[in-house]
Amino acid sequence: TVKASGRDGYRFYEPSMHARALTQLERERDLRRALELGEFELHYQPQVDLGSGRLSGLEALLRWRHPQRGLVPPDSFIPLAEETGLIVPIGAWVICHACTQLAAWRAAGLAPPRVAVNLSARQFVRPQLVSEILDAVGRAGLDVSMLELEITESALMHDVESAIRQMNELHDAGLRLAIDDFGTGYSSLAYLQRFPVGLLKIDRTFIADMTTNHANAAIARTVVQLAQNLGLQVLAEGVEERAQVQMLRALGCHFAQGWLFARALEPAAVEQLLRAERSGKRLLTPATAAL
Ligand code: C2E
Ligand code: MG
Ligand code: MG
Ligand code: MG
Repeated sequence: TVKASGRDGYRFYEPSMHARALTQLERERDLRRALELGEFELHYQPQVDLGSGRLSGLEALLRWRHPQRGLVPPDSFIPLAEETGLIVPIGAWVICHACTQLAAWRAAGLAPPRVAVNLSARQFVRPQLVSEILDAVGRAGLDVSMLELEITESALMHDVESAIRQMNELHDAGLRLAIDDFGTGYSSLAYLQRFPVGLLKIDRTFIADMTTNHANAAIARTVVQLAQNLGLQVLAEGVEERAQVQMLRALGCHFAQGWLFARALEPAAVEQLLRAERSGKRLLTPATAAL
């Protein structure tokens, strides 16, 4: 292996480092190829209005349909995509694809609610972001207000002044903004008031054990009150139990999203849901019926 590694210019590295380096390169090449070969898919997780029990939105969640590894969740490739910068073209694909899908549902007479897409920190800081999103929305013939952008609290806190400028541009263009994983990013309340966002998404770590963990219940309650005081809407992520729904409704939380209602669904399953919603049936009720 000395000969082989010498040829690759890795001779000064430990064999294990060589293997790791190659793996990283291979993974990067795989990811780049996945985009070229069209191996990415968007699945959509329903968001529910806790007042009416109706569908209020869909969050687009990225999946990689890998020929050998099967359906790969984003947590196992987004970090590499961020490191390598591949998140920029991948993220552009996500925005285009979500717009095309939304337009197709509308053309089929399925008046879908809005669709939310996740933006990574590296996408968010690009000056071209607003015009690229407006292009994608325009090409699909959509109203810009049907698209919501989710940005994690930690992505906003890198450079707050630039983040506020970028958010204002997006907001002025008519896009809806949400802060994702809220409660995990240490944002100062003084800043929150300057962010032109409409929705706070309470991170699921606070929801997971809120019925038994007083500290997390207190955080959830505080975020709901904060949202109400600032005139923002608030959504609980990762709702898995009815008891959580009861508690969240009592707190005055507007929306919820979680496996109790539905997992991220393939487009065909979303269509069924949209048809049911259109005809007044409630596919999301098995969970909400008991409320
Ligand atoms: P996120 O934006 O906070 O999305 C919510 C994640 O929680 C999703 O994981 C969803 O499937 C999962 N989830 C939803 N309900 C429940 C529940 O009741 N219990 C539990 N345990 N989990 C639940 P997913 O799809 O694996 O995505 C993970 C993260 O990857 C996302 O977190 C988001 O940060 C990122 N991501 C997904 N799609 C994209 C994308 O298109 N672009 C970027 N930049 N990031 C993405
Ligand atoms: Mg999200
Ligand atoms: Mg989240
Ligand atoms: Mg997350």
